[in-house]
Amino acid sequence: MDKKITIAVDGYSSCGKGTLAKALAKSLGYIFIDSGAMYRAVTLAMLDRGVSADDVDGVVKLLPDLHISFRNNPDKDYYHTLLNGHDVEERIRSMEVNELVSPVSKIPDVRKFLVEQQKRLGKDKGVVMDGRDIGTVVFPDAELKIFMTARAEVRAERRLKELQQKGNTQVSYAQILENLNDRDLQDSTRSNSPLKAAPDAVIIDNSELSKDEQNALALKLAMDKIKS
Ligand code: C5P
Repeated sequence: MDKKITIAVDGYSSCGKGTLAKALAKSLGYIFIDSGAMYRAVTLAMLDRGVSADDVDGVVKLLPDLHISFRNNPDKDYYHTLLNGHDVEERIRSMEVNELVSPVSKIPDVRKFLVEQQKRLGKDKGVVMDGRDIGTVVFPDAELKIFMTARAEVRAERRLKELQQKGNTQVSYAQILENLNDRDLQDSTRSNSPLKAAPDAVIIDNSELSKDEQNALALKLAMDKIKS
């Protein structure tokens, strides 16, 4: 039997990390974990309980009561995040959460709380996890590390199309572009686990690649590691 490996997919906001990671997990029969969804779930809990993102102690106090899990069915392309048993997949993708998730994810205790869970979820290998610090902090020994990037305008355009296809016509291209740039800046300049490529990561710029092309490239990288 082929050996199981750990695959870390990091990169900038909205550059297709999730799409690539899900496709890879499906092709390999691996577990897919969206670590960003976990930071989003903490942010949603904070909003629901009326705690401000500036109130670090207030956010940290919420953590022991939060149970984040996933209900995934790759065959049906169904990947949902649950917070204390409730499906919050749609609510964690709102603009309100987009705007507060980077400040929340800077809080060291929030990162500690989630990184421990992420490590546990990947302890048996056979996992593809996407995020910002997976190859640098969560799985520094991952056999394959991919770091994704694409021009910000291309990413905003793709995100806009995706939202429009879901029937969301409230958000403008300018708002999306501003949020992407703002999150990238906050995520890459924070002192705790900043977004950056691990020295041994393979960089994929998918500005000019189709989904099929990027997925095929990632699968080849994974198979090379699995067979080596
Ligand atoms: O991947 P996604 O865009 O859903 O992530 C939302 C936010 O969560 C990021 O902008 C970042 O602030 C935070 N995040 C993080 N570390 C991760 C994954 C996400 O700080 N591993």
